Amino acid sequence: MFTENMDTEKMLSLIESADIYEYGVFKESFTAKLNEYKNSGKAKTIIAAIDNVDTDEMLLEVLYKNSKEVICGMKAVANILSISEMVIYLPEGKDDLVKIVENAAKELNTEILIKTGIVDVREYREAFITHVETMTAVNDVLEGKKADKALIQIKEVFGDDTKLSEIKELEYGKAISDIFDTSKVSIKAVEIGYKLYDKSILQQPVTKETVLGTGVITLYDKSCCMVHISKDLSLKMREHSCGKCTFCREGFIQLDMRHGEIVSKKGELDSIGIMKDIGKAMNFSCECSVGTYGANDIVDILDKFENEYISHIKKKDCPEGVCKAFTNIYIDPDKCIGCTKCIKACPIDCIEGKEGYIHMIEDMDCTKCEECIKVCPQNAVVITKKRTPSIPNRLTRVGRFKQY
Ligand code: SF4
Ligand code: SF4
Ligand code: SF4
Repeated sequence: MFTENMDTEKMLSLIESADIYEYGVFKESFTAKLNEYKNSGKAKTIIAAIDNVDTDEMLLEVLYKNSKEVICGMKAVANILSISEMVIYLPEGKDDLVKIVENAAKELNTEILIKTGIVDVREYREAFITHVETMTAVNDVLEGKKADKALIQIKEVFGDDTKLSEIKELEYGKAISDIFDTSKVSIKAVEIGYKLYDKSILQQPVTKETVLGTGVITLYDKSCCMVHISKDLSLKMREHSCGKCTFCREGFIQLDMRHGEIVSKKGELDSIGIMKDIGKAMNFSCECSVGTYGANDIVDILDKFENEYISHIKKKDCPEGVCKAFTNIYIDPDKCIGCTKCIKACPIDCIEGKEGYIHMIEDMDCTKCEECIKVCPQNAVVITKKRTPSIPNRLTRVGRFKQY
């Protein structure tokens, strides 16, 4: 590990010969970045940040396992740049990780400031901002190891479900498909570092220059509704934005609201073009990667899956049957035994019925939460994209429906 006695010129030359690249979405030569800051002498602080976008779980794992290595990497860079302040940003609510980092810093006799949330880019305009994986790579190189691999995790998305793989090391030059079996997923799109690709990307070699973002590769199965996915991304980024830049704050509000309208059958065709323009404008007008890159995948979805948006807006149809506003729900009068279990389970009291009578759902109020489906012993509750068949319109005894 790095020690205070290491010569800074020697460290620089080791880092240079290892040709490390910065992780994240701002992919650049770490040596070039280091030299730029060395020449300007502007940085007074080094920051390694993990923010609270959920895909950063993998980066948390890096810090859980390698907090000493991260701190040593930061110390080495701080020495090279004559930086006096070291800061690690963590997501809110990770108290156990705060303790781990504090203990590691104590053992290494290092003062380190731990902050939570998004890096305050206005406060730290001149700071040297880096990634935890880059810092482990720097430490590896100073220990005489090679920095020739990236950490990768696969997130599979099927309809509304997700499955996260274990974290693996990917040697540069190899493809993602060399270390993960992705053949079982019928892939509609692949998301890497806020960009959307087709599945051929999985066979292409990953190099140091490849933008991997957080290292989490998301595979969207054919069963996914990309409009729904884009709506979830918009909401996640809206919640994630610190709100200090107008374009980021207002941009994600607009993207979230307009997607919300589309998935609830109230969308307008104009929204497609407006959302593309908003997403592209955010690229040039925000202070950090959340605003600059955070809408890229949403714009990609709007471009590549425009036909799905048109189906939702014009045909009032969700082709994959994921968006619940486009489905109908009813209780099959031939199956219902009038047990009342669904009434008790419904959180918003929109089921009418009593013991021994065929139950009925008030479709207008129903949120399609599916709680009634889970408790029904007869599988009598049906969600369908088709028209609702003939069902009772008043309380009817079980077995009597055919009479009228
Ligand atoms: S781009 Fe968004 S998250 Fe980043 S500083 Fe601006 S408002 Fe905050
Ligand atoms: S889907 Fe949810 S809201 Fe709708 S009837 Fe069933 S329990 Fe009630
Ligand atoms: S739980 Fe099922 S069987 Fe029982 S009343 Fe409701 S719909 Fe009918």
